Amino acid sequence: MEHDASVHSLKCPKCRHGMEEVTHEGVTIDRCSNCQGLWFDADEAQQLKSLPESAVVDTGSSKEGWKWDSRVDIDCPRCGKHMELTSDAKQKHIWYEVCPDHGMFMDAGEFSDFKEENLLDWFRGVIKGNRETVCP
Ligand SMILES: [Zn+2]
Ligand SMILES: [Zn+2]
Repeated sequence: MEHDASVHSLKCPKCRHGMEEVTHEGVTIDRCSNCQGLWFDADEAQQLKSLPESAVVDTGSSKEGWKWDSRVDIDCPRCGKHMELTSDAKQKHIWYEVCPDHGMFMDAGEFSDFKEENLLDWFRGVIKGNRETVCP
């Protein structure tokens, strides 16, 4: 397939820099070459999350991501509509921007965190459970 820049090239909703396509196991997402934020179309985030080693697409450090975390007033790179800041239903500490029609944007480091749900959040859940029994 030929690469058509007018169709594929997205502008990063956070810093307006160009984004580049990154493919992992057949799933293609867009990553900003400046702030390293990630754009996922539709359910690509869920698809990628279920693939082994998919955290490799998240090459930015969470330090870089935090710089952009406070910038929440962003527009969907596909339709230009204002995106909603949403916290993940299972992992409340993870916040990302969502366009209900097109997809979602995560800052650098957030996808790695999202991906580690099974380990880290299960562990957090256990700790929280213990605390509740100790201090009712
Ligand atoms: Zn960016
Ligand atoms: Zn949109």
